[in-house]
Amino acid sequence: MDLVIRNTTVVTMNAGREVLAGADVLVRDGHIAAVGPGLEAKGVRQTIDAAGCVVTPGLIHGHLHACQTLFRNHADGLELLDWLRERIWPLEAAHTPESMRASADLTFLELIRSGATACLDMGSVRHYDAVFESARDAGLRLVGGKCMMDAGQGVPGGLKESTEASIGESLRLLERWHGAEDGRLRYAFAPRFVLSCTEGLLRRVAALAKDKGVRIHTHASENPTECDLVREKTGLDNVAYFHSLGLLGPHTTLAHCVWLTVNEYRLMRETGAHACHCPSANLKLASGFAKVPELLDARVNVALGADGAACNNNLDIFTELRLAALLQLPRVGPTGFPAMRVLEMATVNGAKALGLEAEVGSIEVGKRADLTIVDLSGPHLCPTGDPVATLVYSARSDDVRDVFVGGRALLRDRRPTTLDPAAIVATARRQAARLAEQVG
Ligand SMILES: [Zn+2]
Repeated sequence: MDLVIRNTTVVTMNAGREVLAGADVLVRDGHIAAVGPGLEAKGVRQTIDAAGCVVTPGLIHGHLHACQTLFRNHADGLELLDWLRERIWPLEAAHTPESMRASADLTFLELIRSGATACLDMGSVRHYDAVFESARDAGLRLVGGKCMMDAGQGVPGGLKESTEASIGESLRLLERWHGAEDGRLRYAFAPRFVLSCTEGLLRRVAALAKDKGVRIHTHASENPTECDLVREKTGLDNVAYFHSLGLLGPHTTLAHCVWLTVNEYRLMRETGAHACHCPSANLKLASGFAKVPELLDARVNVALGADGAACNNNLDIFTELRLAALLQLPRVGPTGFPAMRVLEMATVNGAKALGLEAEVGSIEVGKRADLTIVDLSGPHLCPTGDPVATLVYSARSDDVRDVFVGGRALLRDRRPTTLDPAAIVATARRQAARLAEQVG
């Protein structure tokens, strides 16, 4: 996995946020060996000409549900709790290992083609092996875990589990997959949200995550009704409740964080917990949207994610970048949320939210070579100005030309190297039809 990318613009996302014009990136043994102009590349057999392109760190989704991709365009026009009870939970309950694999394959195909190299994923209750198997074969970086649900109203039989069963299956998956493929696959405990988990389960997860040194990935304060029900159930707001159970820390990522109180901002900062902003999903479910500039100003790390294809309805990180930027400007003014701050969410901040900041998220010597090459030749990118603003405001997922994970090409000249798009789409259509028919 040695290669050199030549004569390109490198958006490094290093500490100085340097953007290097006319630069090369040298990759040896899957890691970045050098960055700069006119690099010596002795013995490197593969040279990639990236003139007229921008190279960015591989883009990172901080919150995703690969299990829901087959439900795309089948759950519109609902708010969060109705969306879950009426559509998503019945569909998740109907999954088989085959449909789960089809959903994950479709997810990772879409991610790779849109320049994403890593994601933090929450599964359904069952069949999470199929998601790890799919990521193992697709080649991208996955931090994921089965969804944990031992409580809640309106949960269908196929998703209900006891506390013991939920912990047991999570630990089995952790043992099997955490650290597999040279650390490319990692486990994260994924209690769904406060309303579908007993206090006992959440306390166990808090202790186990510390004991095993793995991450916790959950949802918090997405929707006002959810927040009201959490207060009714626990007497506390979402984040304050998690804090009272010892669940928050630098190993915890909370998706959404739309309706946080000032006290919860403080708890996030003091514990080092991460937020993940999902602008399309928050708008699609009419939830509201997170005050990201304020969260960042409060020194909370904020990542970016598509959430699920059933509430987005795509998994395009470029759509999220553009929307995340535009959404805030009417409130904070045209200079209140610069493009660089937005791109940080899908690179360095995303790496932190996945616990991978020492390995990925920027183009720096020693890091793993997770790289995305964006072709700037399209008419909608002409003329090109500031490369970062171009990526955030003008670029689209189909401008992504090449994608590398650990120096291995997953996309070359817009063609996936590990996945067969026609076969994946055909299988996905068949499995999605079966799920829709079964659920009615
Ligand atoms: Zn979610």
